[in-house]
Amino acid sequence: MTGTGAVVGLDVGGTKTLAILVDASGHQLAIHRQATASGAAGELLDSIAAAVVSVTGQASIEPAELDGVGIGVPGIVDPVTGDVRHAVNLGIGADAVPLVRQLEQTLNTAVAADNDANSAALGAARLLDADDLAYLSIGTGVAVGLVLDGELRRGWRGAAGELGHLPVDPEGPWCECGQRGCLEVVASGPAIARRWPATDGGSPVAALFDAAATGDRDAVAQRERLAGHLAAAVTMTGLTVDPRLIVLGGGVSEVGPPLVEAVGLVLQRRAGPSGLLADLDLAGRLVVVPGGVSAGAVGAVELVRSMAVARR
Ligand SMILES: [Zn+2]
Repeated sequence: MTGTGAVVGLDVGGTKTLAILVDASGHQLAIHRQATASGAAGELLDSIAAAVVSVTGQASIEPAELDGVGIGVPGIVDPVTGDVRHAVNLGIGADAVPLVRQLEQTLNTAVAADNDANSAALGAARLLDADDLAYLSIGTGVAVGLVLDGELRRGWRGAAGELGHLPVDPEGPWCECGQRGCLEVVASGPAIARRWPATDGGSPVAALFDAAATGDRDAVAQRERLAGHLAAAVTMTGLTVDPRLIVLGGGVSEVGPPLVEAVGLVLQRRAGPSGLLADLDLAGRLVVVPGGVSAGAVGAVELVRSMAVARR
């Protein structure tokens, strides 16, 4: 502890890394965005360290003066060692990458890490002032983070909520995990970009929803297909853990309310003939995090705060 009370929270996505610097009361002092380095593990660690240096530099703070650095990162994160494995989108496989140990050495401050969906679920719980929710992260990958009865559910092997590898389309494309038609290959950001490339370099999801809103039949069909796959994930989550809220998050959710509406309509349609599903009202539990705020980065800050409490 250095007494500044400042913390950096990082949301390391498959494509982008976002870092925020907050003061002791959680007020945001600085923000920094960069592309995520993937390939060699060393490059990833260097790029995370560089993001921390950039965001602290904006407020003339040294990393060593921080209370700590929290990181939400794809893959399975060992809660004791902070080693990361199976971050397929970052090129990390079964060999553990010592994320926390290496960055603590490089930055000379405490580092806490967790799976990105877990971190975002913590952030969403904070932002929505809710203690029971599932955060469906739809970005480069697809995964669910669970805060149940106020506690993060990591799972016995740290794999709770790895729903991206739920096969939802037996005729779908092959997934890197070795199965066919996983949620991640039919409903992730890259999957949408393959079927509906943005022509202006912008977001393919936004382009798809804009085109669908004008009545373009192909776009409407693609939007319905996406909503159908996500509705399956929501139903699976709802029937498994029955959370108070189901948050649609990740890069794909940046289209906001239209996504909630599209998925909600599919859920309502499917609940039509089912008294059980109608009673569960899954559509009524869908929300998005307020625009412009990164649940992942806010949750990463929470990781450091809870680590500090645990050490007291
Ligand atoms: Zn898969």
